[in-house]
Amino acid sequence: MKKIVLLLIVAAVALVFAFDLHSLLTLESLKGSLEQFRGFQAESPWLVGGIFFAAYVVVTAFSIPGAAVMTLAAGALFGLVQGLVLVSFASTIGATLAFIGARYLLRDSVQAKFGNRLKAINEGVEREGAFYLFTLRLVPVFPFFLINLLMGLTRMKAFTFFWVSQLGMLAGTVVYVNAGTELAKIDSLSGILSPGLVLSFVLLGVFPLVAKKIIDKIKARKVYAQWTKPAKFDRNMIVIGAGAAGLVSSYIAAAVKAKVTLIEAHKMGGDCLNFGCVPSKALIKSAKLAHQMRHADQYGLHAATPSFSFKAVMARVHDIIKAIEPHDSVERYTGLGVDVVQGYATIVDPWTVEIKHNTGETSRLTARSIVIAAGASPVVPPLPGIETSGYLTSDTLWDEFAKREELPKRLVVLGGGPIGSELAQAFARLGSQVTQVELGERIMVREDPEISEMAMASMRADGVNILTQHKAIRFERRGDQKVLITEHQGKQVDIEFDDVICAVGRKARLTGYGLEALGVETNRTVVTNEYLETLYPNIFAAGDVAGPYQFTHVAAHQAWYASVNALFGHLKKFKVDYSVIPWATFTDPEVARVGLNEQDAKEQGIAYEVTRYGIDDLDRAIADSDAHGVVKVLTVPGKDKILGVTIAGVHAGDLLAEFVLAMKHGLGLNKILGTIHTYPTLAEANKYAAGEWKRAHAPEKLLVWLGKYHAWRLG
Ligand SMILES: Cc1cc2nc3c(=O)[nH]c(=O)nc-3n(C[C@H](O)[C@H](O)[C@H](O)COP(=O)(O)OP(=O)(O)OC[C@H]3O[C@@H](n4cnc5c(N)ncnc54)[C@H](O)[C@@H]3O)c2cc1C
Repeated sequence: MKKIVLLLIVAAVALVFAFDLHSLLTLESLKGSLEQFRGFQAESPWLVGGIFFAAYVVVTAFSIPGAAVMTLAAGALFGLVQGLVLVSFASTIGATLAFIGARYLLRDSVQAKFGNRLKAINEGVEREGAFYLFTLRLVPVFPFFLINLLMGLTRMKAFTFFWVSQLGMLAGTVVYVNAGTELAKIDSLSGILSPGLVLSFVLLGVFPLVAKKIIDKIKARKVYAQWTKPAKFDRNMIVIGAGAAGLVSSYIAAAVKAKVTLIEAHKMGGDCLNFGCVPSKALIKSAKLAHQMRHADQYGLHAATPSFSFKAVMARVHDIIKAIEPHDSVERYTGLGVDVVQGYATIVDPWTVEIKHNTGETSRLTARSIVIAAGASPVVPPLPGIETSGYLTSDTLWDEFAKREELPKRLVVLGGGPIGSELAQAFARLGSQVTQVELGERIMVREDPEISEMAMASMRADGVNILTQHKAIRFERRGDQKVLITEHQGKQVDIEFDDVICAVGRKARLTGYGLEALGVETNRTVVTNEYLETLYPNIFAAGDVAGPYQFTHVAAHQAWYASVNALFGHLKKFKVDYSVIPWATFTDPEVARVGLNEQDAKEQGIAYEVTRYGIDDLDRAIADSDAHGVVKVLTVPGKDKILGVTIAGVHAGDLLAEFVLAMKHGLGLNKILGTIHTYPTLAEANKYAAGEWKRAHAPEKLLVWLGKYHAWRLG
């Protein structure tokens, strides 16, 4: 492709010289045309102005590229005042026609083509109304034609769009038209360095930055109006919550020598260490071993029913938490230079946090910036009878089960997401009779149907009774029996149980620590912009409380942006990058994903090709009796560029890392294929998937000729 473009450029240059066209592009020739035009303009000023105006309207109304050049031309041809009037009205009328066209005629096509950008615009309009459009006009985050089209799909009135656009584009138009007038004044090429022209181009470059600063100041002034800013601060940064997001935020702040206080109300390490990733993976390991013992005959050993003390299994889970605890401890963070405070934090004004210490006293600290990293808590569905059902959640089950001698006998797991699925399989493998209740058609609904099916088949083989399309209605007690009443296809299905775990999702912690009084906007999570700033630009949010992902590694990733922007945002701000986010569900088979899967690609209207490699064919997986699963890669049609990867299989979460690296650094499947992978490893599956892609894209015609060449070489 690059060679073709190069050839075309060479051909074009040759043509220009062959036909002496370059003489038309000299400054003298352009000046001559301008003189000719001025003569025509003097004879019929209205006609010339009218034609230019109409052409400008058409260009903007039909989103034809060239409006910026026409604005410069308006300055050159008509001068500053007349050029400004012409462009200002023509651009607004054209933009409004594009807006109306998108709203009434092109809705579906605009939606299909740019739909994923509409979300940001819709959210902006909902938050700030016409002021949002004004800011977009002043500081174009999106190209102007996109603003016209996408605004048409919002609920904004056409008249509001018109006047806000007219006003918002005015300053930018002045800068552009002025640059055009300066351009027209050049008499010789040395004039390019004339102070007037240089200044007008500097203005062109600087204008968006200055406009953005002004907008930011206006917004900040509005938000902070009712608060008094302290003259001095106790800290550079205060972090609320010592989970993954809070720990990493405060670590970074201390590493760059900022004075930082980290406040944790409950347990250092937050959910991941105490109630989430760590205990669940520890339990999964014991369950996997029990499963392997039961199926030891696959390895030529005698199969055995594992005999164990449940108390010992749960004690191991808590031992593992204890073994990892020092990584997140007060001692470690104090040693790193973080001031760790154990207590409950409440934000009382944009710079002040009140701390109710665990020891009983109360104190206040001020900081230039605050990072909210308060995490999320399990959702408990408001079902009748749930309060007396003895329900457990990820917050409570680890301590509750640690007290028990016996494994839960009949266990209901409400919810078919990753957490519910991991727990359901682990308890089934240990020996509980597990019923998993899911409202939807399948579990792990974010994954492609074939992947959910794979997980479901394996979990069913382990004895999990997966009930999909079952709606939990209420809990009842019938004598000693606890019963969950569900509805399936219009019929009542009763499920008797001894224990029930609610795993129907996790909701961000949004109340009880000052967000309401400050008016910090929330919508399921704390609302932030791309810099993780909340409504108050000095208050940031990261981790589960900010969403949209609920993973430890994403919390840590966001923490970097929150703390760096909090400490250095006045110099340079960084937009949080969600382009390559991996995750894994640790069922057996593990399901790991990065980027798009098929259902996402279809939903977003993105063209793709699928390549599959069956792990059942992989030497190492066969040797380990783990020969099941798939590597599924989505690529741009005809190219090796990776759009997304799903791996289902043993250690899928680890195997995925190679694709995460490839996507992050723009490496295609050819590069993976060209990399040596150690034999015999599971990681070879990635290379073989790349090989499948290569085979499907082999140059068939060339191979026919190669065949003929070799036949000829035989003599
Ligand atoms: C069962 C389970 C399994 C999971 N498995 C995985 C996995 O395998 N991989 C993965 O990536 N993720 C997993 N997760 C998700 C992961 O645990 C979370 O995404 C991660 O813990 C989020 O970190 P965070 O810092 O945002 O919040 P948290 O870890 O929830 O930390 C927030 C902290 O803030 C504190 N806090 C709240 N309000 C205040 C206040 N006002 N004052 C002081 N302190 C306050 C809380 O006490 C808490 O300690 C799992 C979660 C669960 C429940």
